[in-house]
Amino acid sequence: MRRIERVPLPRRSQGYLARQQAKVDSGQDVHKVWRTARATSAMSGVMTTLVQMSGKRARCMFCEDSRGTDIDHFWPKSRYKQRVFVWENLLLACTGCNRQKGDQFPLDSTGQPLLIDPTNDGPWEHLFYDAHTGNVTARIDRQSGKPDAKGSATTDPGILPLNTDPITEGRQRTDRNLRRAVRAFLCGVGPESAEVRPEVKQELLAAVRDNDGYGLTSWYFEKDGKKESPFSDLRAGYPRIWEEIVWQIAHP
Ligand SMILES: [Zn+2]
Repeated sequence: MRRIERVPLPRRSQGYLARQQAKVDSGQDVHKVWRTARATSAMSGVMTTLVQMSGKRARCMFCEDSRGTDIDHFWPKSRYKQRVFVWENLLLACTGCNRQKGDQFPLDSTGQPLLIDPTNDGPWEHLFYDAHTGNVTARIDRQSGKPDAKGSATTDPGILPLNTDPITEGRQRTDRNLRRAVRAFLCGVGPESAEVRPEVKQELLAAVRDNDGYGLTSWYFEKDGKKESPFSDLRAGYPRIWEEIVWQIAHP
């Protein structure tokens, strides 16, 4: 999972959503209004904006593995009717994640969602990546020694399928590609004082861009993963290039 920037919806789609929400608010059947709306070009516009937000490969905002084909209601539409056509409640999901999540939506004692909303939360604030298994798990709070509540709920295999074999395999493959690119750079540039040829640097930047799946570039260049070799070696030896990579990740 990675942080996704929510962009404003085109005005036409915004107006359309407001009109559909008014129908639901006036008591019309949620599922019927949604089904009818889903087939319209105005909703295709909503879908297009979600796809834009998710990046060139249009991956599901939860698993980051399968293609995002469905509009997911973060607060499920059958239980939270007042949010059915609210832009901030709509996410791009694959059919697997969308179906499995279904009506499940755990809340904490104050009524706040326990699932991570990638357009609102920094997923790595709550999750930990285990490079040995390719799994994402709940972060452990240093003081209490307890697993993070949002991390636990989000990685509950009964709610979202985030650690199935194909997904952990995909994460590990992306992980290997990133490590390989950084190692190749470090081997290719020679001693740390040597001038880095622009094409060598560009190759590294391109490799990081090409392997921006599963939020792993953020994990290795912004979060805990930066302490791990070879990432830590790159950071120590080439701080300016490191900063360029961090900037690139923040500006996809
Ligand atoms: Zn998914």
